[in-house]
Amino acid sequence: MFARQIEIPSAEEIVTRIPLPAELAAIKAERDALARDVITGKSNKLLVIVGPCSAHESAPVLEYVRRLGRLNERVKDKLVLIPRIYTNKPRTRGVGYKGMFSQPDPENSENILKGILTIRDLHIKAIGESGLSAADEMLYPENYAYVEDLLTYVAVGARSSENQLHRLVSSGIELPVGIKNSTGGSIPVLLNSVFAAQNPQVFMYHNWQVSTRGNEYAHAVLRGRVDHHGNDIPNYHYETVMQVLEGYVQSNGELKNPAIVIDANHSNSGKRFRQQIRIVEEVLQNRNYDADFKRVIKGFMIESFLEEGNQKHDVVFGKSITDPCLGWDDTERLILDIAEKA
Ligand code: PEP
Ligand code: MN
Repeated sequence: MFARQIEIPSAEEIVTRIPLPAELAAIKAERDALARDVITGKSNKLLVIVGPCSAHESAPVLEYVRRLGRLNERVKDKLVLIPRIYTNKPRTRGVGYKGMFSQPDPENSENILKGILTIRDLHIKAIGESGLSAADEMLYPENYAYVEDLLTYVAVGARSSENQLHRLVSSGIELPVGIKNSTGGSIPVLLNSVFAAQNPQVFMYHNWQVSTRGNEYAHAVLRGRVDHHGNDIPNYHYETVMQVLEGYVQSNGELKNPAIVIDANHSNSGKRFRQQIRIVEEVLQNRNYDADFKRVIKGFMIESFLEEGNQKHDVVFGKSITDPCLGWDDTERLILDIAEKA
């Protein structure tokens, strides 16, 4: 039984209602090219996907991206900064706050129509106010249609990365799609998902049989794993990165554009958010030690907000209500350091 609550207009209708202005579409197109060039190796810059675990309220996210936009001016020769504006949250046990998409007001019940309108408005304002188009997680592949004209980077989360529809929809996206290792951490499973996303596919999407050309910008994201006892086990170390690279090489060209992004939080840090700084520093050091390692590491994912840590309820402005984040000052220092060492 599915009790109908609110009818949601089609993506076309919503996009027509809240369109991306042409001058902002031009900014996004330019940034898409910058991000794609990092994945293909045409550019030696690093992607830094940085921002809160979840965008639970527009005002602090806009303040955050304005700061990031100013910082971008100082590092853009070395880095492509992509704000995390994550509006869909998977939950380990399937219950709890599911993101702005479902709950535009985190203290109130679900209103998905209002959520969609709120996140389109947020993404568009963010581009306008910072000059930066963002990353979001494609938690529900059907819903991607509501934001596909706005994003520069798409994430497939650890709980979704082995799912067929996520892989098939990723194959039709013409942007870098970062596919995380599943929570169990299998590297072959991860590379199989990258392969599926890189290949042309035919499937059903929004009431149509559709075909895709395959997405050569789909790549691996290492986020650490959880063992059989529930312990977090990091996978950003030299050995795992080289194992993933070996998997790319062994595919004999079946896998294109070998690329790994390191997610410094989640099971890599055990959500001890300050450890993100050490983890990034270690990876930077390994990059400068080994040329192959350097070539395959294409960037970092960092959880950061205006205020460090997290809180249960939205009391402190700019503090995460999901995973704990670095605060702004640490983030700025870390990004300047990445730029210097990249
Ligand atoms: C996230 O990026 O906030 C997230 C939910 O990540 P993961 O899918 O790796 O748990
Ligand atoms: Mn998170």
